[in-house]
Amino acid sequence: MSNQVIQVSAATIEKMKQHYGSMLNPKVPQGGIFSAKAPSCNITAYKSGKVLFQGARAEAEAARWQESARPSAAAKTNTKQQTPYSPPSSIGTMSIIGSDEVGTGDYFGPVTVVAAYVSKEQIPLLKELGVRDSKDLTDDQIAKIAKDLRSILTYSSLTLHNEKYNELQQRGMNQGEIKAWLHNQAIGKVLEKLNPTKPEGILIDQFVQPATYYKYLAKQKTVHRENVYFSTKGESVHLAVAAASMLARYSFVKQFGELSKKAGFTLPKGAGAQVDAAAAKLIRMQGQEKLKEFAKLHFANTEKALRLLK
Ligand code: MG
Repeated sequence: MSNQVIQVSAATIEKMKQHYGSMLNPKVPQGGIFSAKAPSCNITAYKSGKVLFQGARAEAEAARWQESARPSAAAKTNTKQQTPYSPPSSIGTMSIIGSDEVGTGDYFGPVTVVAAYVSKEQIPLLKELGVRDSKDLTDDQIAKIAKDLRSILTYSSLTLHNEKYNELQQRGMNQGEIKAWLHNQAIGKVLEKLNPTKPEGILIDQFVQPATYYKYLAKQKTVHRENVYFSTKGESVHLAVAAASMLARYSFVKQFGELSKKAGFTLPKGAGAQVDAAAAKLIRMQGQEKLKEFAKLHFANTEKALRLLK
């Protein structure tokens, strides 16, 4: 399916509305002026002056109006970036499963992936609870909100402990493949729990190009593709991703605490120099064999820790 976005004046949108008069949809998305179903092309005009053409005839249909279109840098970039995986502009108000992961950049601790369903009716409540980008919140704030989210939302939280992570990695799976596998699985679990309710869409916080994501899933039995969208900074596109990210962080922090107990000292997060020192200390205390239960062995930190011990 092809997508075209053009930027036009309010007058042109009015002309278009008359032109497509017999094909207008009764429903207009949030922020929209009209939406029409022309042969092999859906057209949606927004108050911002952007008009989106979708379908086999998108290019031809957009070209009719292009002449009167004002060239706009934003519209040009949009034309390039619009793909079948781009979320629709109205996604913020839809009922969505969002998914996100935590822990992939931390040497110690598991990878946690959460998929969470947020219905459009729940959006105001989530805003009220303070759900937003977890990067702006402390772990304590996240824990408080996450506890509420756990009783309100339908979600699936998956943890990949490092023993298994290392096994997969040594079998030749790269981190992207591991993440894709976990996201797909978490989404499937939420879809199962929701059944027969269906989300209006699924939004994955993008960590790799969508085509690569699906390539990574080539060997999986069930791959969820229906209405799946990808976006970087997904937490600002829909609160479901923000909620998923908070739940993932909450789970990660809790399990990180458990791991510190098992280590006998507080493990540092991230992958910096203090992590090398902690890994060296752990090897000294529990032996190198034990490291695979705590850390992602393929990180450069392993080598650096071993060098520290020499
Ligand atoms: Mg993410």
